[in-house]
Amino acid sequence: MQYNENAKLDPSQVSGGGGGRRGTRIALGGGAGVLVVLVAVLLGVDPTLLTGGVAPSAQDATTDPYAQCTSGADISQNRDCRFVAYTNSIQAYWAKTYSGYQQTQTTIFSGQVATGCGTATAAVGPFYCPADKVVYLDDSFFDDMLTAELGAKGGDAAEAYVLAHEYGHHISDLTGTLAKAQASGNRTGPTSAQVRLELQADCYAGAWLANAAADPNSPIKQITSDDLDRAVNAALAVGDDRIQLKSTGSVSPESWTHGSAAMRKKWLAVGFNSGDPSTCNTFAAGALG
Ligand SMILES: [Zn+2]
Repeated sequence: MQYNENAKLDPSQVSGGGGGRRGTRIALGGGAGVLVVLVAVLLGVDPTLLTGGVAPSAQDATTDPYAQCTSGADISQNRDCRFVAYTNSIQAYWAKTYSGYQQTQTTIFSGQVATGCGTATAAVGPFYCPADKVVYLDDSFFDDMLTAELGAKGGDAAEAYVLAHEYGHHISDLTGTLAKAQASGNRTGPTSAQVRLELQADCYAGAWLANAAADPNSPIKQITSDDLDRAVNAALAVGDDRIQLKSTGSVSPESWTHGSAAMRKKWLAVGFNSGDPSTCNTFAAGALG
């Protein structure tokens, strides 16, 4: 991903909750069982697996690596600043595109973090908490899970896609779609409300990606074909069928919560190709795949 060195970054949109203290981690390479648990909420919004454990002590503000990120040029010196760039770009896009947008925050944590949805460990994977409207990201996810475990190519555009997916849930929350989908129950499967909600988030991520470099003030200079390839590759890697095949050796569509690799790729492409979030009505779509 190419960045605008002169673009201003707003570090107040990212916090390092739980940073500097690395808690006990669940081994991600520990076998299929662990992977299945993790996958159940991977990139999801499901707060039911969050536990009401002991909240970690407050973060020491001096260890927050994001506070120093004030311009695009900082990204090459301090790679942590890329998360500020993604967050700033995603929120600037939605503030401009959706009149009901409410600015929120990305909290990047190590080990565990206290959230409005309970205490979460890194094993939950990136998630959006509707109760506090914050996007949570564990700092080991991309290296340990997305690339090492799930075999995605990774890279900045893959990370940005994941973050934009979580902000997509924030949009569905603000529009009321998330609450409606959750009220319809916990049914799983390729046409379930859960899957439609996840595919909508992928589509919203695609709409942002198409516009990420359009604003001259954006910290993101250009979305290259390699960037798009990496985002699509990540979307494929987190498809329910791919993950099930990796973890259990078989595919059971009836338990899908996020959609197949093909569905996720398709809806990311719908958003990207139109650049228009109004095309992301997955609840009105007959065929999702
Ligand atoms: Zn999701």
